[in-house]
This record gives sequence, C-alpha cells and structure tokens, in this order.
Amino acid sequence: MSAGDKLFGRWRAQPAVALPVPLEVAAQVTSGLQVLLDGQGQVLRLSGPLRHQLATPADRRLASYLQPDSRLVIEGEPADWQGQTLDLQFKGTQGTVHTRGWVQHQADGWVLQVFDVGDLLAERGQQQDRGQSQRLLAEVSERLRLCSLERLDEVIAEQMHSVATYLRLPSAALLLPDHERAQWRLHADWLRPGELTLWPAEARLSRSLRGLDSHTVLETELLAPAHACLMPYRENHGVAAWLLCALPSDGLSPLIREQGPKLFAALAGPVLARLAERDHRHELERLETLQGLMGTGWWEFFPERDALQLAPGLAEALEAPQQLALQDWLALIHPADRSELQSRLRDVQRGHELMLSVRLHNVEPPAWFRIQGRVLEGDRIRRVVGMMLDISDIKNQQQQAAAAHKRLDNVIASSPAVIYVQRYAEGALQPSFFSDSLRPLLGWTLEDCQEGELAQWVHPDDRDGYFQRTRQLLREGAVRSRYRMRDRQGNYHWLLDEARLLRDDLGMPVEAVGLWLDITEATVASERVRQSEERYRILVEDSPAMICRYRPDLTLTFGNQPLARYLECSTEQLPGINLGNWLSSEQREAFLQRLAGLTPQAPVSSAEISLQLPGREHAWWVWSDRGVFDERGQLIEVQAVGRDNTEVRRTQQQLTQSAKMATLGEMATGLAHEINQPLNVMRMAIVNVLKRLSNGDVQIDYLQDKLNRIDAQVQRAARVVDHMRVFGRRSEIEMQLFNPKQAVEGTLSLLSEGMKGKGVQLRVPEIALEVEVRGHVDQLEQVLINLMVNARDALLSKREGNRDFEPWIETTAEADDERVRLYVQDNGGGIPPRLLEKIFEPFFTTKPVGVGTGLGLSVSYGIIENMGGRLSVSNTEEGARFCIELPIARAD
Ligand code: ADP
Repeated sequence: MSAGDKLFGRWRAQPAVALPVPLEVAAQVTSGLQVLLDGQGQVLRLSGPLRHQLATPADRRLASYLQPDSRLVIEGEPADWQGQTLDLQFKGTQGTVHTRGWVQHQADGWVLQVFDVGDLLAERGQQQDRGQSQRLLAEVSERLRLCSLERLDEVIAEQMHSVATYLRLPSAALLLPDHERAQWRLHADWLRPGELTLWPAEARLSRSLRGLDSHTVLETELLAPAHACLMPYRENHGVAAWLLCALPSDGLSPLIREQGPKLFAALAGPVLARLAERDHRHELERLETLQGLMGTGWWEFFPERDALQLAPGLAEALEAPQQLALQDWLALIHPADRSELQSRLRDVQRGHELMLSVRLHNVEPPAWFRIQGRVLEGDRIRRVVGMMLDISDIKNQQQQAAAAHKRLDNVIASSPAVIYVQRYAEGALQPSFFSDSLRPLLGWTLEDCQEGELAQWVHPDDRDGYFQRTRQLLREGAVRSRYRMRDRQGNYHWLLDEARLLRDDLGMPVEAVGLWLDITEATVASERVRQSEERYRILVEDSPAMICRYRPDLTLTFGNQPLARYLECSTEQLPGINLGNWLSSEQREAFLQRLAGLTPQAPVSSAEISLQLPGREHAWWVWSDRGVFDERGQLIEVQAVGRDNTEVRRTQQQLTQSAKMATLGEMATGLAHEINQPLNVMRMAIVNVLKRLSNGDVQIDYLQDKLNRIDAQVQRAARVVDHMRVFGRRSEIEMQLFNPKQAVEGTLSLLSEGMKGKGVQLRVPEIALEVEVRGHVDQLEQVLINLMVNARDALLSKREGNRDFEPWIETTAEADDERVRLYVQDNGGGIPPRLLEKIFEPFFTTKPVGVGTGLGLSVSYGIIENMGGRLSVSNTEEGARFCIELPIARAD
C-alpha cells in the first residue's frame, strides 16, 4: 500500500493535480487500471495491476466500484465524460484508492484509464503539513519562551491545545518527571470538547514509565481499551517529558508519527526550560526571603580586584552598596575584630574554611554577625564565597545568660543556704559541689565531705531520716526533709534539705541538686513557741475561769473545760454553740451593744451578765471580753474570760435584802407614826362625829365632810402599807426602766411623816425629771432611804447639843443629756474629812454597837454601781451632800 493511500479525507481539499501521462501513450500503459465499459457505463472487463486493490462491487455498474463522493463525476453515460479529467475514488480492499484518468472510445465500447495518484496527493499534503507544522512549531516554542512566568500555565494549556488539535488527537497529557518524588506526574492536559479520557493515576504512570526510554513514538496500553501512544521528548540523558496521547479511530497516523515528536519537542523543550526557570525564581525568592528573615546574606570576594559583592538584602542590612572595595567592607567591622577577619580572609584563599563572629563598628545596639566562607573551585577560576548571619539576638542572649549566670553565681555564693550537687554513681550520691556558704555554716570543705561519709555528721537520732531522704530522692525525684548536722566545732545545726534529682534523656539519674537551709534558730524558736503554747494551753485548760473564743455573732469557736462544765457539755461540743442561747433577749441586746462598742483602741470591756443555764435558776458571770480586729478594724473574734459570780450575787442580794429589812426595822418608829397619824385623824373625826350625834346636831354636810376625811386617811394608810409590802419584796432579776422621780416619791411616802414627827424639815422642791434609768426602783428607794435616815441621825445627834438647831434635809435632782443626779444634803455638820474615804466600806460605822451596822452606805454604793452609776459624798458648809449619779437609759 502506498503512503498516499492513507490520506483519505484530505483528497477533496486538494487542487487539480497536473497529469503526468500524455493521452496518446495512455493506450499502451499497462499500469493503473483499465475498465472496459459499454455505452451505459456497465463494466465489461477490468485490467491493469490496480484492479487487485479494488473491493468486489455489488453489481457491474461503474458507480458500484466508486465511493459515494465520486459518483457525481460519472453522471450520465461514458460519452458525456469524454475529454474530461476524471478524479475517481474507488472502494478498495484496504480503504479508498485515489485515481485520476480519462475515457476513450474504442470499437468494443469505452475504456476508462485511471492511475493511482494517492502518493502524489499524500506527498503534497505532507509538504503542506510540513509547512504548517513548521509554523506551528515556531509559534508554540516562541509563545512558551516569551510568555511571562505568571501566565506560563495558561500558555502551556493553550499550546497543548494547538499541538493536539493539529495532530488531531482526541486528548493529550504532558507528563513530567517529579524529581523530588522520583516519579512521573501529569503536568497539563488537553481534551477535545466532548472527549472523556481517564488519565492513569500517578502511581501507575510512574510504574509504566520507570526506566522507559525511546527515541520514537510508542504505542501504549496506558489508556486501554482506547488506543494511545507515548511521545518522548529527550534531553541530554534520556526522556525528559512524555506526551501521552489518546489516538483517533484511524490509529497512529503518519502525521502523529512524523510531526508529533517535533511538535512535542517544540512544546516540551521550552516548557521544561520555563518551569526550571520558574523553580529557580521561586528558589531565589525563597532564599531571599529566608536571608531577609534570618538577617543573613551571601557575599563573594574577588581577590584579584580586592572587591566584594553583597547580596541585596545583606547590603541593605549593612547599609552598604552591593559592590564595594574590601577596605570599605572591613571598615564596617569593629576595629577589634577587623584584623582577624582580614587575616582569615587570606587563609580562605589558601583553602581554609572561614568562620568568625564579628561586631559591627559604630552600631547601637551592638550588632553581631557570623561570617562564614570558603573557596569554590570552579572550572577556570577560584571563587571565594560566604555568608554573613546576623547573630545579635543570640549574642545578646548569650551575654544576658552570662550576666544571669554571674548573678546566680553571686547569689549562690552569698546565699545563707548551702547549694549542693551530688553526683549519682552506682546507686549512691556523692557530693560534687557545695556553694561557698558551706564553710561559714558548717566549717567543712567539699574535700571533707567527699572523703568521709556525709552521714557520719548527721545526728544519730536523725540518721534513719537521712537515709530515708536519699531513698525517696532516688525513687520519687524530689524530697524535702530536716535533720541535724554536726559542724566542725561539734555543734549541731538543724538543716532543711530540699533536693531534686536530675535525669538524663533515658531517665537515668545523673545528679541531685539541692539546698540546705540552716533552720536551727527557727526550729528552736518554734520549739519554744510550742512549749509556750503548751503552757498556755494547760493554763487555759486548767484555769478555774471560763475561757472561750467566739465570733461577733456569739457563736463559740473554742471553750475550755470550766465553760463546758457550766454549759453541761464536752469541750468538743462547744464550738458552734451560740452564747446568746443562754441570754434573755434584753441581756443579749445589751451584750451585743457592748461588743459593738469595742474598738481596736479600746478592745476590752467587762460586764456582769446573767444567764439562764440549763437546769439552774440563774447564773451571774463577771465577763471580760477582748476584741480581735482585722487590719480594717473589723471585729473578727472575741476572746473572753468569765468568772461565776452567782454566789457573790446571791450573797449581795441577801445582804441588800437584810439591809432593806434593817432599814424597815429602823423605820419602824417612823412607820408607826406614819400609820398612827391617819389613825389619830380618823379617831378625832369619829369622836367629833359621835359628839355631834349625842347632841343631836348632825348635819348631812358635816357628816359627809368627816367621812371623806376618814376615807382619805384610810387610803393614805393603805398606800403606806402597800408601799412597805412592795419595798420589802426581793428585787426582780431583770432590771427595769423607770423614772428616778418614782423612787424619790416612794421614799417620801415612807419617810416624810416620820421626819416631821422628829422635827426634821424635808425640803423637796418639785422634781421635773422626764428621763429613765435602768435598775430596780425599790433598790434606788432603799439607797435614798439610807441616805435620808443617815442624815436624820446626824441631824438628831447634832440637835442633842443644841436645842435651837433647826435640822433640814434637802432632796434635789438635775439631769443633762447623759446622766441624772439626785442630791441628798443636810445641815448636820458633815463628815469628818479623814472619814470621807471610809464611810463606804462595809461595817464602817461611827454609831454605837447595836445601833449602826455599817452596811447602809456600802450596800447603797453597790446598788448604784450595779446600775452603772456612782455614789459620792462631799461636805458643804452646813453638812454632808450625797450625790447619786445614774446614766440615762435610752429606749434604743
Ligand atoms: P451606819 O448608818 O449603820 O453607821 P452607814 O454605812 O449607813 O452605816 O454609815 C456609815 C457612817 O457614815 C455612819 O456611821 C456615819 O458616821 C457616817 N455618815 C453617814 N451619813 C452621814 C451624814 N449625812 N452626816 C454625817 N455622817 C454620816
């Protein structure tokens, strides 16, 4: 089969081909094909070598031998075709047979003589193809070479398109080596619209292409079942790129086979070059960025010119030009490092490596560079290249670290603690370092400690603990212990030992680092504190007094044994109990008010409190509180000491009571008089009424008047008796609020008549007090009675010597915002000054035995004090003047 046979499809595009054979010789031609036709164009006979290539027709019509396109050429009968050049395409056994010829009339019919022009056409087509291919070739490589790198991928895709279209490939893929991964990868592909090609996975590609080498197009199974071929592009050492092509239905055409490799070379060559260029550019960019980031850059030294070239970034960092003389470069370096650099640079040229850290000259803050360099032995010339790396950070850190190290050394040396290192060797720890503070502390040196066992200086009682410490350190990696260690003088020191074990990468112990702190003083002091605490604890525990601590809301936090006994529980049960539980609401109120008055400046307050204890009638405690304050002056706790005062109280009460009774007895005469007076008045009234009755001279008015008078006297007597009853009663437990005026009036009701009877004048101006005090009204009355009876006694004894003497007692009152004062004064001559201090003492009396008890003033004093007041005495010109001063109680 000729080469032209395959150029089907291009045929009609071809211009008319000049006939190579003259008509007259045609008859003798035995090549080609001769067809004898009858007048209607029916084939009678075939001859000539070409006839063997024809396919068998369906019938004997000439049209049946031809391809459909050629049938137009032979429309009509052979006579019509005479004198024309006939281009006929016969159906061949192997495709179309392209022919050109003519018809001639002969005696037995018409002879159609045609020749095979397939080769001719093919060659022409090829020529044209070659021209087109040349143009495409130039265009493809030019486009690829000239495009910008940014557009490279786009242009590769475009040119793939052009090449594949030209080669009439349904699809094509550019396969490039991936040097890093040592395999092939699909770099770009092109698919005819509507075409679907599944490219093999990279692994399969790489497997199939590994070691594959070829100078020509290879058919391949890579896209099976589709037909495909691989087109190599070769560079120095073999295939540098493959074009994997899916083939059209007519398979590997000569176009592909012949033009393909050239076109692909025109594509792949520039693509590879440009990709390498792009990689290079990226690498440069990376390098530059990196140099910029690291503060580094290359330099090259040209010995023959004594000049240097610097990387742009480096030149910028050094604020120097990129090209500079060696001297200018050296001038940038600190004089201290300059000559060394210069001499090392000479050594480099002799083949030594250069590695030097230098400072820059006149740069603040100091900048350090590491300079490295070596000779590159090139083909013809030796080049000296190197780099400068900014190591200021590292150097500064180094310097800081060195300074910190130095400081640390100083700290270690001047530390009161001993810092030590013990090396680990075969399960034991051997001292390998002690800070200088060892000597002042223990007097030993490192050598002393290395020679002997450290343990020999540990106090025998603490040795177990010391060995335990080493075992724990090795086991757990850290330990804290305390033991006594003997110094060179034989004295023991308490040491606090804190150690940590350091291990290597494999977890094996390397050394122990620790410190000894001399805690002798602290230990002794804490022992002292402990002992003192113990003593205080015993003191508190064994104290007969009740000792406790409680919060401002009265909740106990601690209480000792006596308190627990009182509250009938155990000391453990005390915390949490509220003291207020045992106080009446008034007492609690007063208690809390007292606590509220505590300040950091006056943190102590005492009072007598009465409690309702379980199973007891009433208890009186003398209670002393001390407030504990936080730094803001807030009360956080109260420490209190209490003493049971119930017995004393009871005795006092009894005493008061008996004093009261004594007063009553004392007043018996007065009282008799007091009662007698109304009785006398009544008797007189009754006698008078009876006298009138016997005279028969009784007017109703008169009678009424007398009976009213009797009634008034009865009421008066009843009042006195009533008051006596009240006065004689025991006082209430709880204090009450009352107006002191009440007590003055009560006193007068008992005493006024008796005084009058004795000739003592009572001067009591109207008392206009509207205040209240807290206490027991009967007790204040008792005080007033005592004072007035004492005054009366003094007055009466003075009158014994002077019949003309006119005795009087005056009771007055005054009040300010805080206090109320009641005065009882007389004109009895007063108290001798030397006795002034004594008269309040119990049992002090100047009266004869059996008359005075000496209790009146002392009991009175106690009563007033109990009410928060004060009883005092002074002498006036005429006599004694007693003053009862009481705090005014406020309702709140
Ligand atoms: P008694 O009255 O039983 O002696 P008191 O304690 O009441 O006991 O008095 C003590 C003493 O104080 C009296 O004995 C008396 O000497 C003196 N005294 C009290 N009041 C007066 C007074 N008004 N004037 C002079 N002396 C007085």
